[in-house]
Amino acid sequence: MYSENDLIPKKYAVTLTLEPESGELEAETVLTLNVRSDTSIEFDLHEIFEINSLRIDGSTVDHSTEDNEPTPVNPASKKVKIADGWKGNKEETVEVKISYSGKLKDIPEFETMEDQKIGLDDRITEDHIELACYSTWYPYFGFGYDFDIDLKLDLPSHLISVCSGRKVSSKKEGERRIERWKASKDNDIVVVASPDFKRRTIDGPFGEFSVYYTRLPEDFVKKEMEEISQAIQLYQDILGRSHISGTEFKNVYSPKEKGQGAFSRRGMIVYSEGYILEQLEEDPEMSIFKWNAHEIAHFWWNIGSGQSDWINEAFAEYFSTLALEEIISEDKLEEYIEKYEEFVRELPEDAPSISEVEPYNSGDNYTIRYYKAPLMLHELRYKMGKKEFIRSSKDFYDKYKDTGVKTSDFKSFWSERLEEKNLTNTLEGWLTSKGGLPDDAGAE
Ligand SMILES: [Zn+2]
Repeated sequence: MYSENDLIPKKYAVTLTLEPESGELEAETVLTLNVRSDTSIEFDLHEIFEINSLRIDGSTVDHSTEDNEPTPVNPASKKVKIADGWKGNKEETVEVKISYSGKLKDIPEFETMEDQKIGLDDRITEDHIELACYSTWYPYFGFGYDFDIDLKLDLPSHLISVCSGRKVSSKKEGERRIERWKASKDNDIVVVASPDFKRRTIDGPFGEFSVYYTRLPEDFVKKEMEEISQAIQLYQDILGRSHISGTEFKNVYSPKEKGQGAFSRRGMIVYSEGYILEQLEEDPEMSIFKWNAHEIAHFWWNIGSGQSDWINEAFAEYFSTLALEEIISEDKLEEYIEKYEEFVRELPEDAPSISEVEPYNSGDNYTIRYYKAPLMLHELRYKMGKKEFIRSSKDFYDKYKDTGVKTSDFKSFWSERLEEKNLTNTLEGWLTSKGGLPDDAGAE
């Protein structure tokens, strides 16, 4: 279960040593943590890691652990609780220093077999390294916090790595290479590495954009880079520079065979290269423009956290259809809207409302977050007109990009816009109705 809590990670300074030959990881993490009053410190960590030392503000503390129920996103984690219930007695910041080591639990990649309930794409092998929040390889408090990262990565020198943020230094020491990566206001610490990575970079008006891949055909990569530049430019024209610009934008084709198709972080999209190659084999003309356009839209639309994460998905998805409409063909918009409606009509009557949908993609949540919520935006666009919808989207983004946005903010902002223009406000129905399309959808 997702819960908002009183522990907020502000900065991770991590020294990470990777031994792909044995599959082992060794980490020392210095975590700056905000603790609200009367809150015990506890966090998740990978189930089979061993904790070698744990200190708070310089003093060694005892801890206990208990296994967490596996979830689709965190299939192998345990809860680490500071013994004697260390409590913040006022709102304060503490430094948690923790050393730990171990291998990742052996869990097959997503989509490896049919009807697979639990999967894990995080890996430490000689062919391929991938680490993200899914394995809870660092002290984890749930998804959606903004924190700074200072990562010192120590790995065999023949591996080419790409991590969250920007590489600030790299030096070879014998058979090893020591790299330093820094990020600000990121929401995950991602490390991907391969001995075979190739990198292509373009320097556009929005900054640097790179693609990392191992086996993808060059033509595909070239076409993709052109399309992506166009999408970034379009979003930038609409919304202004992303609040996360300054980082290197990058698409990383992680050389896994199966796995989740893609996930998006601040300025960084990680695709399964195996999955894309499979699709290309079926259809060499296959385009992932729509997909890229969705993930890139998250460079802007990542302002809702917790339950309000649907706002990120609704806008990223709807903006990707806007990009299709603008860059590929106008017909594409209708095609997607029809597809969304088809899926939404099939929602069971008791499917959660948008204002209650959990920030996971399990069950009906995906349809609600990625199809029903964009249909609500589509209705806003048709009522207000495209120009006004786009202008209001920018105002909405500007208003909440630094503070974060809640479902209630969404409702009041867009209600105000509708009422200013004497348009019928159907947002209540859209946000609170269970099941498929609300009764008054499309009402004028
Ligand atoms: Zn998304």
